[in-house]
Amino acid sequence: MHHRTFDWFNHFYPSHNRKDGMVKMKYKTETHLHCEESNHCSEVPAEEMVKHYKKLGYHTLIVTPHYSRAYLGTITPDWDMRVDYLLFGYQKAKKMGKKLGINIILAIELTSNVNRCDYLIYGITEEFLRTNTGLYDIELDELVKLCKLNDFLLIQAHPFRKGHEPGELKYQMGIEVFNGRHVLDAKNNLAKKYAEANDLTQLSGTDFHDYLDHKGGIITNQEIKNIQEFKNVIRKKQYQLIIPN
Ligand SMILES: [Zn+2]
Ligand SMILES: [Zn+2]
Repeated sequence: MHHRTFDWFNHFYPSHNRKDGMVKMKYKTETHLHCEESNHCSEVPAEEMVKHYKKLGYHTLIVTPHYSRAYLGTITPDWDMRVDYLLFGYQKAKKMGKKLGINIILAIELTSNVNRCDYLIYGITEEFLRTNTGLYDIELDELVKLCKLNDFLLIQAHPFRKGHEPGELKYQMGIEVFNGRHVLDAKNNLAKKYAEANDLTQLSGTDFHDYLDHKGGIITNQEIKNIQEFKNVIRKKQYQLIIPN
């Protein structure tokens, strides 16, 4: 009698089963998440969200609260209190992540008032958020400059969703080629073709707001424990996209 352990990775991602001797990638990272505490468009509290992803075998979650005038501009005139609100879900997730052994990382999804498009910004810190107010109002070239200066990774979310369009290429570092929000059609096929044609960095994310959203993210060889490691694997292209059928 011999026992075989269930190989979940090759069960769910058979196309990644390498027969050429290369190491199999195995760590799952979610790149686009919203929880109820900071975004009332999400139905799921941070702690429940983390438990859910633990069950699904993810190792790292990047929490990306909406950073928009609609969310932050109306709650209080006090900028620090706005940032407290923005961070609330992330902090709860972080505590639960510690308990369950999941890495929780902070980023934001900025809605630009200039073109109404959404940008995921990876590398942003709490200190940066507190000292740079009202990022939703700055011009796109300023935003790009700021990201380059601070070594942030700038990815346009769902560029082909209704009401959105891919930004000018000179402003484009990368785009989501898979967005899993189940109530809004991201036209992911168009995004994938556009990224390939223009040689843009490609990212996949669930845009988690409730349990029905289709699970995206990336798979890597190494566990991603902080935002620097995330930026490194993206820039060196050492990742595979999770794109459900
Ligand atoms: Zn939302
Ligand atoms: Zn989102």
